[in-house]
Amino acid sequence: MNAEEALSQIASEVAVCEKCALYHSRKLAVPGEGPSRAEIMFIGEGPGFYENEQGRPFVGSAGKFLDELLSQAGLKRGEVWIGNVVKCRPPANRDPEPAELAACDEYLERQIQAINPSIIITLGRFSMGKFMPGVKISAIHGQMRKIGNRYVIAMFHPAAALHQAALKPAIMADFAKLPALLAQARKALGRSSPDASTPVPAAPDDPKQLNLF
Ligand code: URA
Ligand code: SF4
Repeated sequence: MNAEEALSQIASEVAVCEKCALYHSRKLAVPGEGPSRAEIMFIGEGPGFYENEQGRPFVGSAGKFLDELLSQAGLKRGEVWIGNVVKCRPPANRDPEPAELAACDEYLERQIQAINPSIIITLGRFSMGKFMPGVKISAIHGQMRKIGNRYVIAMFHPAAALHQAALKPAIMADFAKLPALLAQARKALGRSSPDASTPVPAAPDDPKQLNLF
């Protein structure tokens, strides 16, 4: 099964999943979406009202802000993968509970294995907690960390930044650093830009050193 087939298989399982209590109140599950070869995966918390109606991630006001942040970083929504730690909407947008996060984690793990991104960007504390338990987002947001064979960057949740004006400059600054961090991650992982129209910025090293590789 290739990555695309694996992702559609996961989406069809999620659509009818009853592994946690959140299935009772869902209208449509939101498996996540994006190219199976995405270099960057954004992982939010869970579907809200509009996501539950449409079965698509980040289509409400937080999604509009995410679109702006992506374009500020020179990225198009269609070239990144976007999903959540829970695939069904928690009633009244309450926080997902530990049992729900644990039940749903299998799907996200399989999505990450299928896509094999260079960078995972966590949006908010629940997805950050999956990769960096016990850290404070205010202390580590925007920093890229190697976890296993890829990089993880924790960022504030766009909805939090919309509601707390003080967080907005921080999330904007973190997104602005993304092109440079992506170039750094590609280089460290020995991956090249998949698309010639988005070239890797020139490395600061002496070009003669490239002959060594
Ligand atoms: N907030 C999230 O965390 N995820 C969505 O899909 C939408 C809003
Ligand atoms: Fe299944 Fe995840 Fe939905 Fe719970 S939130 S019912 S585990 S898909």
